[in-house]
Amino acid sequence: MIRFNVPPYTGNELDYVKKSIENMHICGDGEFTKKCNEWLEKKTGAAKALLTTSCTHALEMAALLCDVKEGDEVILPSYTFVSTADAFVLRGCKCVFVDVNPKTMNIDENKIEEAITDKTKVIAVVHYAGVACEMDTIMDIARRHNLMVVEDAAQGIMSTYKGRALGTIGDFGCLSFHETKNYSMGEGGALLINDEKYVEQAEILREKGTDRSKFFRGQVDKYRWQDFGSSYLPSDMNAAYLYAQLEMADEINDVRMDRWNRYYEAFKPLEEKGLVELPFIPDYATHNAHMFYLKCKDLTERTELISFLKEADILAVFHYVPLHSAPAGVKFGHFSGEDEYTTKESERLVRLPMFYTLSVEDTEYIISKVKEFYASK
Ligand SMILES: *Cc1c(COP(=O)(O)O)cnc(C)c1O
Repeated sequence: MIRFNVPPYTGNELDYVKKSIENMHICGDGEFTKKCNEWLEKKTGAAKALLTTSCTHALEMAALLCDVKEGDEVILPSYTFVSTADAFVLRGCKCVFVDVNPKTMNIDENKIEEAITDKTKVIAVVHYAGVACEMDTIMDIARRHNLMVVEDAAQGIMSTYKGRALGTIGDFGCLSFHETKNYSMGEGGALLINDEKYVEQAEILREKGTDRSKFFRGQVDKYRWQDFGSSYLPSDMNAAYLYAQLEMADEINDVRMDRWNRYYEAFKPLEEKGLVELPFIPDYATHNAHMFYLKCKDLTERTELISFLKEADILAVFHYVPLHSAPAGVKFGHFSGEDEYTTKESERLVRLPMFYTLSVEDTEYIISKVKEFYASK
């Protein structure tokens, strides 16, 4: 069986976890957490990177730092993972869902402005499949309407928009290191802070509302309760696992890009015949091969393709059920304007296996089976 995802493992993880245990510092902000934070700051250019227990928690921190209040509105795509919405719903916000651009499945920047009301506080964008949203337009809208921008860059590490790392363009960026992402620590994520003025509050928020981070740096002689907070810092053992992969980030990226390009080239003729649609990478973006998807004719054909592949021992999957039509989406938000593409396009999309240890042989086998399926169409 070719699995849909296999968590990344490069070889040094166990040594680093052992080192973290030998350091006798297995809780947060030890040697490896610091190394990961520094790596992320260097790689992305963010003013500050803070490793967190998940991207969901990084999003919660971003919502708290945006200082949203009960009744405020957040603009976001309906085609996303629940966490983008949850972070704001937990603070009492209403979700205003905006349609996607069918070419990228990212929020349609041209439909954002009509969704803005006097209650709007934040635009939360999602860089789907690690392919950037049209950030210049989005930042311009945000500036003109005095809104904060949170980038859900859960899938976007190593990707860029006009040369800038995803997660460093808005006010806050949120990364994920869940086992399904390009680099992993089991469960984990990071908050990227792009304006120095939020760093101190973010550190306090992440450390149960205390100035423990300052205390550890020797900047204060005791730490105290300073503000509201929670526990968003991961164990150093998890950070150790992640650091082994960050050191190999380019190698992992190269392998993923190779598999992605094989799929793309192989299916190009199917797209030319009008049988499928392939991912679109705008000129302004470089991507990270987080995901390879294709779009079938419709829901029926997608169901057929998934079961055809399953018969051939290949696990292909689909996602997301649009949030606005889910029970919580109905309760906590509404769609802005007409759902022209979100539902229709989400029903056609199927994701093929994509992970670091996916062999060339297996990739070619998957390609041959998809081609076989379409040969009969
Ligand atoms: C994976 C993912 C998340 C959640 O990440 P966790 O680290 O599991 O909390 C949020 N948003 C998007 C778009 C994701 O793909």
